[in-house]
Amino acid sequence: MTTNPEFDIPPRYSRQVLFEGIGSEGQARLMASQAVLVGCGALGTVQASLLARAGVGRLRIIDRDFVEESNLQRQILFDEEDARAILPKAVAAANRLRAANSLVRIEPVVEDLNASTIGRLLEGFDLILDATDNFDARFLLNDHAVKTGTPWIYGACVGSYGLTFPVLPGDTACLRCVFESAPPPGLSPTCDTAGVLGPIVAVVASLQAAEALKILAGRRDRVTRRMAVLDVWDGRLNLVDLPPREADCPCCVRHEFPYLEGTLGSDTATLCGRNSVQIRRRDGLTLDLDQVAGRLRPLGAVERNRFLVRADIDAYRLTVFADGRAIVSGTKDPAIAKSIYARYVGT
Ligand SMILES: [Zn+2]
Repeated sequence: MTTNPEFDIPPRYSRQVLFEGIGSEGQARLMASQAVLVGCGALGTVQASLLARAGVGRLRIIDRDFVEESNLQRQILFDEEDARAILPKAVAAANRLRAANSLVRIEPVVEDLNASTIGRLLEGFDLILDATDNFDARFLLNDHAVKTGTPWIYGACVGSYGLTFPVLPGDTACLRCVFESAPPPGLSPTCDTAGVLGPIVAVVASLQAAEALKILAGRRDRVTRRMAVLDVWDGRLNLVDLPPREADCPCCVRHEFPYLEGTLGSDTATLCGRNSVQIRRRDGLTLDLDQVAGRLRPLGAVERNRFLVRADIDAYRLTVFADGRAIVSGTKDPAIAKSIYARYVGT
């Protein structure tokens, strides 16, 4: 095969360079590009694997969680040894990715992404990939992306259903143009209450990675203007035109960033001497405790009274109040508490 001598492209990328949409120029751009993955669970492991193998120059992987055995059904970078060693997901992923492509600069970051860390953790990247599991994080990410003009790619899955679309700030609809605000917590099922299939995750993450390759290889003109809505169990694959940008969008038009400023989204406080963390919502939403109780019942012992639902799940005790507040006992770490809340209550 021939490559343009102007670009020094390693032979390992030959099949990608042969593809006319990328070529040696696109590959050279890809190798000089920097992408950051927010989350390294089901979606993140697939995205990371595809992008590292494709030769993205620098890949930062941010995740606050540890590998568990129940992850292995769909989180394709991890194995039983990672779960036994309770390795942070970002670290376990980095080990695999470096073995797959030592040319890529892989940066594992074991931290919680929140209003006070996002500026530092996402600064300087060409693209952000959404591999989070909750709406709080996505609205925060959208605020940051719009404010800094950084493209990002939304992706979400639950059960056999998934959804993905790219956001090009200033050009296409942002997350708040598409969804006015987060669905009320406790109403949206999560993968930890409704389950999730490996195939839907692989499809959604692959679509995200494809859009990422276009953006990073300098082919923004080919980025899709559609939302993919998929259900691998029902056999539904729809591409829906994205809505236009909202004329009065608080985020991408009025440039208000309440999630970045910490006036929307959740807030945590470690409760002194109690090995517990309290999580408070700032959006004034209330929870249907019957629904929360129903969802948690298959997972562990659940008690319910007029004011709260209490569930014992693994080593944690989760107490959820109707105003959306929760206390996670069994940890002092706000990142773990937020993770438990996002998984079992939803945001
Ligand atoms: Zn908008």
